[in-house]
Amino acid sequence: MDGLSLDIRTLNFIVILFSCTYAGAFILYRQSQTRTQGLKLFAFSLLCIGIGPFFLSFRGIAPDWFTIIVANTILITGFQLNLHSLCIFKQAKIRYTYIGYIALPIMVISLLYYTYFEPSIKYRVIVISCAFIVISLASAVVIYRGKRKDLPSAEKAMISAFGLYCLFNAIRAVTTYFNPEIPSLLSAGLVHQLAYLSIMLLVVTISFSMLWILNARLISAIDHLSKRDALTGLYNRLALDIKLPKLTKQAEEKQHPISIIMTDIDHFKSINDQHGHIVGDLAIQSIASAIQNKLPHQLSAFRYGGDELLIVLPEYCEQRAYSLAERLRENVADKHKLDAVHLEITSSFGVATLLKGETWKELISRADDALYRAKRLGRNRVVLCNCSLSIKTA
Ligand code: GH3
Ligand code: MG
Repeated sequence: MDGLSLDIRTLNFIVILFSCTYAGAFILYRQSQTRTQGLKLFAFSLLCIGIGPFFLSFRGIAPDWFTIIVANTILITGFQLNLHSLCIFKQAKIRYTYIGYIALPIMVISLLYYTYFEPSIKYRVIVISCAFIVISLASAVVIYRGKRKDLPSAEKAMISAFGLYCLFNAIRAVTTYFNPEIPSLLSAGLVHQLAYLSIMLLVVTISFSMLWILNARLISAIDHLSKRDALTGLYNRLALDIKLPKLTKQAEEKQHPISIIMTDIDHFKSINDQHGHIVGDLAIQSIASAIQNKLPHQLSAFRYGGDELLIVLPEYCEQRAYSLAERLRENVADKHKLDAVHLEITSSFGVATLLKGETWKELISRADDALYRAKRLGRNRVVLCNCSLSIKTA
């Protein structure tokens, strides 16, 4: 076993180095990510996890109250603040942190007791291990139960790190309890040497996972923005080009119907000409929300371009799509209050249902034809493709 012996002072130094370096890196990173909640506290918690062992390394030079009580309190506080930061970051209930805040004073009192009244390294190790168990278990629960869902692999990495750390401390507490008193921590056995390695592993894993999650959040925000239309907030053409082929393929495979509605504002150029482009923009926004608000919640509207919107309707046969388009038309054909201007705006609608063997582009083209017919027939109406069915303005 001696061949496996690790130098505790060196291990302690590496823990300090890793924790403080990551803390510094997160403080710098946070300057460009000011909106990420909990990141500042996360960085500060890593700093405490580094400072605790730093004070611990003055053992033999500085008094016990400093190297035992203060050093370990800072170390456990670091873990507790880390739990608190994760609670904020993952939008978990703050009550998950209470257990750590209760454990902290109990640990300090126990450390005082086993330092001054009944000195025992063995029981101090057990007390500290128990505090680590409680806090790391709560951290794993916070990541799992947090309202904010992140990349599953990164979350799993963090949960596993806390879970393993909790398990290691349970093993450490049990083996310490069943072994004789430890004469000096610097010459303690392998399980105590591994305690430093396990902190190091935990700090590295949670820091890496944190960066992984932050990166995934940025990618998802960019992806979200790239698929949204800036004026209306609806999905844009790029999103349509990605979603529609998938949905039509699925519908064909399952042999389920799928329809689309294409709509275009009537005489929109005249709104622009008479009231200016700002009012024109407001008109597009107003129509977009009149349509999106009337859609069943699982359905989305896309801004196809200019004053044209498109709605994809999985599981909708021709008649059902037609009825929905009619309800949308009625909802749009109303007075719209745009700035100080009240305008009567109407839209025309074309409906098409996917035919066997048809491509999604052909489907759009048929809905476009139906819309064109609705315009020619006098506007403010719904026209079903390949069908004479049309409804006139009330
Ligand atoms: P129709 O009833 O035949 O559809 O007549 P229309 O005047 O609405 O004709 P059309 O649909 O071809 O006009 C679209 C106009 O929409 C042309 C363009 O100037 C205007 N437009 C396109 N995008 C925007 C936008 O983002 N904001 C504003 N204000 N106008 C836009
Ligand atoms: Mg138009």
